[in-house]
Amino acid sequence: MAVLSIVLPAYNEEQNIPNTVTVLSNLLTEKEIAYELIFISDGSRDGTFAEIQKAAEGNPNVRGAEFSRNFGKEAAIFAGLEMAGGDAVIVMDCDLQHPPEIIPKMWQQWLEGAEVVEGIKQDRGKEKLGYKLSAGLFYKVMSRLIKIDMNASSDFKLLDHKVVEVLLSLPERNTFFRALSFWAGFRTVPVYYEVQERQFGESKWSFFSLMKYAITNVTSFSTLPLQMVTVMGVISILFSIVLFIQTLAKFLSGTAVEGFTTVILLILIIGGFLMLSLGIIGHYLARIYEEVKGRPRYIISKVTENVHGNIIGPWKTK
Ligand code: UDP
Ligand code: MG
Repeated sequence: MAVLSIVLPAYNEEQNIPNTVTVLSNLLTEKEIAYELIFISDGSRDGTFAEIQKAAEGNPNVRGAEFSRNFGKEAAIFAGLEMAGGDAVIVMDCDLQHPPEIIPKMWQQWLEGAEVVEGIKQDRGKEKLGYKLSAGLFYKVMSRLIKIDMNASSDFKLLDHKVVEVLLSLPERNTFFRALSFWAGFRTVPVYYEVQERQFGESKWSFFSLMKYAITNVTSFSTLPLQMVTVMGVISILFSIVLFIQTLAKFLSGTAVEGFTTVILLILIIGGFLMLSLGIIGHYLARIYEEVKGRPRYIISKVTENVHGNIIGPWKTK
């Protein structure tokens, strides 16, 4: 019988865990889908892991792990994929903003032969205006740069175990889960859903963490910023040629150039371009440095205790 693994990254979600476990297990039992729930506590500072352990004791289909510190949602997703043993794996938020009713639809698509089922957002629900602005802007820039419509796509998706294996075999550490499943290809089917309101607690994203996320993801998926450096260089050279000709013409016609305004402007423009370019190159260099060091993407400090005697899993760090 085919088993569905559900991977749920959780950062400071102690209030959400019990409810999420109940909702999901009731739904999946009712739909007669064999399942396992895998919670990854991303270095939470509250009782998230204790709640996961409690849930695991009450339900043999629940297990989870705790990170040694906060490694980010991406890392938590990959840890979950690594632990998942199902024939298909769904990744979803544990605050139930990804509506559970969609799960049976995704499962049905998988049964019918889909290898990737993409959860596509229809709207972002009732979120704060500031969040909407920053997230909206963020996804627009992202979509342009990596040529995937990020505005509608999300981390809520189902992957066949083949696809999971492909993603886990990628050597890179700075990943972007949302775009990687597009990149990997496979038979993809969309499923539409509406973002729900958060059950408990608050969103973990601030404007700055979103910005950092944006820069990391753009640079992990596109070298366009590096090519921009070249374009900017060409533009400033063209500009200086024009200026040179103009100055020469003025000199020959006898109207001498007065003051240093042009010189100062040129220095500022070229200096600005140079610093920006160096910054972009520096960022990519830092990324290469991080990849080359080959540090693990996450460190697991605890796993749920095997109270039911039927839990197996490759508890290795990766
Ligand atoms: N999350 C995580 N690590 C983090 C931040 C968030 O695992 O560093 C989890 C969080 O617990 C939730 C999901 O990622 O299950 C989405 O986070 P959140 O609800 O804060 O984001 P939003 O829904 O507002 O985009
Ligand atoms: Mg959320």
